[in-house]
Amino acid sequence: MVQRVIEGITILFELLVKFVLSVQKGDSHHDNKEDSYGLSWRLAVETNNVRGWKTVPHKCYKHVEKYMSGGQYELDLKLIVDQIIEYASQISVASDGFDAWILDVDDTCISNISYYKAMRFGCEAFDSSKFKAWIMKGMCPANGAVLGLFNKLIERGFKVFFLTGRDQATHLQITAHNLHTQGFIGYQRLILRSGEDKGKSAVRYKSRIRKELEEEGYRIWGNVGDQWSDLQGECLGKRTFKLPNPMYYIS
Ligand SMILES: [Mg+2]
Repeated sequence: MVQRVIEGITILFELLVKFVLSVQKGDSHHDNKEDSYGLSWRLAVETNNVRGWKTVPHKCYKHVEKYMSGGQYELDLKLIVDQIIEYASQISVASDGFDAWILDVDDTCISNISYYKAMRFGCEAFDSSKFKAWIMKGMCPANGAVLGLFNKLIERGFKVFFLTGRDQATHLQITAHNLHTQGFIGYQRLILRSGEDKGKSAVRYKSRIRKELEEEGYRIWGNVGDQWSDLQGECLGKRTFKLPNPMYYIS
C-alpha cells in the first residue's frame, strides 16, 4: 500500500516537472520569436526600408531595450566612429579654414536614451511637451565615441558645425550649455531651427542650411546623424554616416 502511494506521488511529481519544463520552453520559444522579429525590424529601420513610423512595435520592446541598454548600441557606435575617423584621417586639411563637418545633436553627439527609457524605448507615442521638458534640463550625456570623434576632428583643424532640429528661440542656450558641459568645446557654429524653417521637414531645413554653408565656401567632408533625414536632400557632404537609432523616426 505504502509502495503504491509512493509510486503515485512519484508519477505526479514527474508530470508536474514535465509541465513546468514545457511552459518554460514555450516562453523561451516566444521570447526567441520576439527577439528575431525585433532584429528584423531594427535592420529594416536602419536601412531605411521602414519609413514614417510613429512608434516602435510593442513586440519589439524587449529587443530594443536590450539593444539600447545592453551594450550593443555603444559597440555599434564605436565601430561606425572608427570608420569615420579612418576616413577623416585620409583627408588633407587645407589652411584656409573651410574644411567642414556636420554633426547632428540629438542621439548623435548627446544621448536621449534615459528619456526614451521612460517612454518604453519608443513604444509609447512621442510626447513633445515631455520631450521639451527633458531637453530643458540640459542633462543629455555625451555619446562617448562621438565626443572622441569630435575632438579628433577639431585637433585635425576641421570646422565642426552642429545642425539640429531643436527650436532656436527656446533651446539655443540650454543646448549650447549641455554640449559645453559634456565636453563639446571648440566647434564653429551651433545651428538650430529658426522661425524661417518652422514647419519644414528636417530634410528641407537641413538641406537649406548645408547649402548656405557651401555658399559661404565650406567644403563639407562628412555628415553624421542618427536619422535618415539628416543625410538626405541637398549638399549632403562627400560622405554620410548613419548612426543607429531604433527608438524614433523624424522625417
Ligand atoms: Mg538626431
